[in-house]
Amino acid sequence: MKTIGLIGGMSWESSLLYYQMINQSVKEKLGGHHSAKSLMYSVDFQEIKTLQFEDKWDEATKIMIDLAKKLETGGAECIVICTNTMHRMANEVEESLSIPLLHIADATGKEIVSKGIKKVALLGTAFTMEHYFYKGRLNDEFGLNVIVPKEDERKIVHDIIYEELCLGVVKEESKELYLNIIDQLIERGAEAVILGCTEIGLLISQDNCSIPVFDTTRIHAEAAVEFALSD
Ligand code: GLU
Repeated sequence: MKTIGLIGGMSWESSLLYYQMINQSVKEKLGGHHSAKSLMYSVDFQEIKTLQFEDKWDEATKIMIDLAKKLETGGAECIVICTNTMHRMANEVEESLSIPLLHIADATGKEIVSKGIKKVALLGTAFTMEHYFYKGRLNDEFGLNVIVPKEDERKIVHDIIYEELCLGVVKEESKELYLNIIDQLIERGAEAVILGCTEIGLLISQDNCSIPVFDTTRIHAEAAVEFALSD
């Protein structure tokens, strides 16, 4: 089994899910007392969030590269960045490594395409919904037509992520707001919805939605296990 290197803590609420899902999946696949070999570098999210909100992406990139290298030196055989937003600098991180970076949008795009879906809604932080690094990758590499909520709704989605979900706060009224936004996206032709932030799974699940839900946390965790157990 290969050792998975996880860059976590963004937020730790979702890193917890990654750790649980990865170990659960290894246990299901191998049985007995098997569990995943992994290393996690968990950051102080306040430091990262400050850089994001102050638009200091170059500094944030340096930190991500440094953490990935530390994990590689520590024995990791792949890197998993446990957040969609911080894939903004995934290319730079990948270039600095001699082990593979398992990109969250690639794992997600692959799964969506395998279901024959072409037009998909994306929910995530404003950074993920508005910048090219994520939507562009899904479009360029997987031919997906990606739509996002309208501006005022994007703000609601973004604020709930940072002010509630990243702090472990899950509110019924926020769930209703998300479901209403998903309904608008269905009216605009979305065939499926990407939970493109690793905390949204705390709020929304397939049971709440009439269209297929792609939870990036689960998909990314599964991609890590597949890598770890491959030859
Ligand atoms: N975990 C979130 C994501 O998947 C947001 C936290 C962050 O800014 O990294 O985008």
